[in-house]
Amino acid sequence: MRRAVDDSRSQMSPRMKPWIAAIHAYVPGKSRADDGRELLKLSANENPLGTSPLALAARAAAKAPSLYPDPDSAELRAAIGRVHGIDPARVVCGTGSDELLNLAAQAFAGPGDEVLFPRYSFAVYDIAARRCGAQPVEARDADYGADVDALLACVNERTRVVFIANPNNPTGSFLPAAELARLHAGLPGDVLLVIDQAYAEYVDPADDDGGLALAAAHENVLVTRTFSKIYGLAGERIGWGTGTPHLVDALNRIRGPFNVTATGQSTAAAALEDQAFVTASREHNREVRARFVAALEALGNHGLRPLPSQANFVLVLFEGALSAETALRGLAERGFAVRHLPGQGLPQGLRITIGTAEHMDVIADSLARMAEGSA
Ligand SMILES: *Cc1c(COP(=O)(O)O)cnc(C)c1O
Repeated sequence: MRRAVDDSRSQMSPRMKPWIAAIHAYVPGKSRADDGRELLKLSANENPLGTSPLALAARAAAKAPSLYPDPDSAELRAAIGRVHGIDPARVVCGTGSDELLNLAAQAFAGPGDEVLFPRYSFAVYDIAARRCGAQPVEARDADYGADVDALLACVNERTRVVFIANPNNPTGSFLPAAELARLHAGLPGDVLLVIDQAYAEYVDPADDDGGLALAAAHENVLVTRTFSKIYGLAGERIGWGTGTPHLVDALNRIRGPFNVTATGQSTAAAALEDQAFVTASREHNREVRARFVAALEALGNHGLRPLPSQANFVLVLFEGALSAETALRGLAERGFAVRHLPGQGLPQGLRITIGTAEHMDVIADSLARMAEGSA
């Protein structure tokens, strides 16, 4: 016998949870112009030097794809432990650090809770908060950088997780060690501080933000890292996180059981052995970025303002006659895809990944012509 409720429900379609319906899907960096032309991609912060040859060799020697990968990424965790001086039991690997950021929100926040981060943060934090039904909260920025006092002023009894990317994407801004320690010291012990160090290897080692030491010493700090940026393995989707056993245990309970591919594990472990590639990539980036920023600073009278960056990209603000939109189109005509982020409250900026010196010279030159032409 059929009940009335079955008749009415047979006409319905599955309904998204309201907090899922409120999510704006992540918009990835483009590699094509609107007319379909292939562009040089400086929109996703990938390494212009590619990948370490040691990593490429390991990838070519990968095991048979018919076999499941090691569910615990044991060799990769051991390699991470050796390079960073961390007990591998305190390391968890993920399908990109993206998976770990989402798991951190899911494990520690839910409906009725708040997840806090600075204005102009990485777009994934908002999605991670909403995905688990928590309320995302944005703290005021300080000229596009994180403001520790503004963050602490937003903490209340509902706050469960605080996300901070250091250096931050998309602004490139960086909180020095003393400020990061002050942020941590101001948080209640039951608030998880997630320090997203996706670009940490680009920071001058003398300016280390102390995040790994905080994660080693405190129950409420998780640091995440990625192989997608300086290691040049974005296509393999490998990230890792570290914190106390309690935090690692929480993420291990809910991560995908085989969340890192066999190829990804062996390739990343080999990439870690080539720290010379990491150093060369950091130095290349520092030199090319300095030259690019100097060229843009010379256009300050046209309203171009490159924000100070510790990462492998620069957020350029267009505060004069030349708009970011016009510059975006002009660069596409010259063959370059860069990142415009109006959906993140930055219609006035372009985030430009640091590519080769030659490409950055062409971009700086194009921007100079456009700025002078529109004065
Ligand atoms: C690129 C990026 C990541 C890394 O994402 P993966 O999932 O590891 O590729 C994490 N955080 C920030 C701020 C990033 O820009």
